[in-house]
Amino acid sequence: MRTITLKNNFDFLIIGSGLFGSTMAYLLLKKGYKSLVIDKRSHVGGNVYTESVNGINVHKYGAHIFHTDDKRVWNFVNAFAEFNRYTNSPVANYKGRLYNLPFNMNTFYQMWGVTTPEQAAEKIERQRKESGIISPKNLEEQAISLIGKDIYYTLIKDYTEKQWGRKATELPAFIIKRLPVRFTFDNNYFNDTYQGIPIGGYTKMVEKMLEGIEVRLNTDYFENREYFDSIADKIIYTGEIDRYFDYCYGHLEYRTVSFETELLEGVPNFQGNAVVNYTDVDTPYTRIIEHKHFEFGQQPDTVISREYSKEWRPGDEPYYPVNDKRNSELYARYKALTNGQEKVIFGGRLAEYKYYDMHQVIEQALIMADSL
Ligand code: FAD
Repeated sequence: MRTITLKNNFDFLIIGSGLFGSTMAYLLLKKGYKSLVIDKRSHVGGNVYTESVNGINVHKYGAHIFHTDDKRVWNFVNAFAEFNRYTNSPVANYKGRLYNLPFNMNTFYQMWGVTTPEQAAEKIERQRKESGIISPKNLEEQAISLIGKDIYYTLIKDYTEKQWGRKATELPAFIIKRLPVRFTFDNNYFNDTYQGIPIGGYTKMVEKMLEGIEVRLNTDYFENREYFDSIADKIIYTGEIDRYFDYCYGHLEYRTVSFETELLEGVPNFQGNAVVNYTDVDTPYTRIIEHKHFEFGQQPDTVISREYSKEWRPGDEPYYPVNDKRNSELYARYKALTNGQEKVIFGGRLAEYKYYDMHQVIEQALIMADSL
């Protein structure tokens, strides 16, 4: 009897068109492989997706600022977009008073009126000593032992409690390993060499990565799993790892964020900065993002998003993995199951249940493509 081997239509099926999937698709095409990219959403880009509203690129899944120290990653993204000179310099609003972030000489001047690094260091040191905390037992004690009580109560406590939905005294100390403190007048949030926003938005950048590659949107892998498994030699899966294994050990947990986005017509400038953190307990949201400032927009209108940090329930967008004992152990069990999946490569923030910044996701994809 003659056996006929049916050649698969694609070398790779890539599930998810976020930065991991799109970077892989581009690199594989360069190596001569044919991929099909599917995404259950109606657009490409995953969480970096931007949508134009009255000419303003709105970061639909939260503010995304690209920053990296890795020249290879920087050169890679610059092949698909021109980056502007945006530098993240958030401002904190505590009961109507404004403070610069990250903690630097501007913040110390606003907090205490000190004008020299020596005065600021002395103030912090005195408060650290006064706290008398030697081995911090929780996040509150850890923060006070690092920076003193004034900055902790004004800029850290309420903001952190809103973010985590728990008292700072109930959060583990390790969440704050160290606090970046600068004794210079430098409001740049990041220390990385390269930083910016792709001019024209992230969606345009991802679309360029996917040029020449077949993409099917509104297509959920799990709605036609058998078919999708049959059309490619290899699969790259960037969705939730627990979903892949039918939640056989239970759900991994996340923190999520809900966005209240508003178009303010006729308002050219709402808050004068892209990111303003609300660090008091009475304001229910954690931040307001004014999207036009990422690209120095001069439009007559503006779009703002208020961010509310929330407990995640199945069905919500999974944003931040919860790296506590329960979830770390659960992830380890799912990870062990991936060993039996010869045909499948698991990558990206959801499949690895890991908080990755954009540059880290791209770096992981570059490494993976090199190894194929
Ligand atoms: P995703 O972007 O989540 O892509 C996964 C894709 O897979 C999604 O499009 C999803 O629809 C699709 N998918 C999942 N399951 C299926 C399925 N069953 N079938 C078909 N498709 C499926 N990083 C920075 O560097 N700077 C920042 O300022 C920054 N800000 C952030 C703010 C927030 C609120 C969050 C949550 C993250 C932020 N990040 C930031 C991190 C950044 O979003 C991630 O690094 C990056 O988006 C991860 O890309 P990914 O491809 O791994 O995942």
